[in-house]
Amino acid sequence: MKIGVLGSGTMGNGIAQALAYAGLKVVLCDIDQQKLSQASDTIHRNLTRIFKKQEKDLSEINMVIDNIIFTTDKQVLSDHDVIIEAIVENMEVKKRIFAELDALCEEKTIIASNTSGLSITELAGATSRADRIIGMHFFNPVPIMKLVELIRGSQTTDATYERAKELVSLIGKESISVLDAPLFIVNRILVPMLNEAMFVYGEGIATAEDIDKGMMLGANHPIGPLALADLIGLDTLLSVAETLFQETGDSKYRVPPILKKQVRAGNLGRKSGKGFYDYK
Ligand code: NAD
Repeated sequence: MKIGVLGSGTMGNGIAQALAYAGLKVVLCDIDQQKLSQASDTIHRNLTRIFKKQEKDLSEINMVIDNIIFTTDKQVLSDHDVIIEAIVENMEVKKRIFAELDALCEEKTIIASNTSGLSITELAGATSRADRIIGMHFFNPVPIMKLVELIRGSQTTDATYERAKELVSLIGKESISVLDAPLFIVNRILVPMLNEAMFVYGEGIATAEDIDKGMMLGANHPIGPLALADLIGLDTLLSVAETLFQETGDSKYRVPPILKKQVRAGNLGRKSGKGFYDYK
């Protein structure tokens, strides 16, 4: 299977790493050359950690990296079997890219989106291949997280779904099946909890450290909600939280002002070096 990944940020580089680690050939494409270089460094660093932990021969890391072609040229994706889009969480930008990929790619190509919660049916509407559009929602950090949500748009066929499911199992992950609905399953349940943690922080009730410690030790979460928000990326989280509020119109999903404030200040979490915590 020839796989392309579009977008080499937080998620794209993780998805490319997971595919390459499973022995699949992957083209990782981004508009920004610097993001591609950073992705290459990140993948190298992550693989080194994994190989050391598993006491594997470090010289084999290059065999995994060699499975990835890093490029800014989308044209090379035209004959691929599956393309996984992992660019910014914005419906209009994603629709433009889906229309471009649709025009560029062969008929067989399945175009999947890693969107955190935008409508797959609406994305499919930007193409002439709604039957071969699907949501493949990976979790962060991709090399570690076992789950991929598979989201069927209103016209996604069984054949497309089965192909995506096969790809998920080829890379050693588990999938769950979801119909198209705002934020699917996991984020629909998770994001309100992250929102609440940010309201608690914004109200000055406790420090970030104590909020996270509370949820880790009191609710047995492996990572605190504010540290998780920083890991996700606060700009991405803001877009996702806004989708939930806008799509449902339910005030219980209102977006915490502190989240908007952080994003407007350029504090995007780990990827910018500062969010609820300082990473510099
Ligand atoms: P990011 O900001 O870290 O990376 C986005 C990348 O896309 C950047 O490298 C950017 O240069 C690139 N890009 C933008 N426009 C492009 C284009 N037209 N062509 C090619 N590349 C382009 O974002 P991210 O956190 O990796 O999120 C990507 C997608 O994955 C979003 O839809 C997001 O909702 C989803 N997602 C994110 C997480 C998370 O925890 N961050 C988890 C699951 C799903």
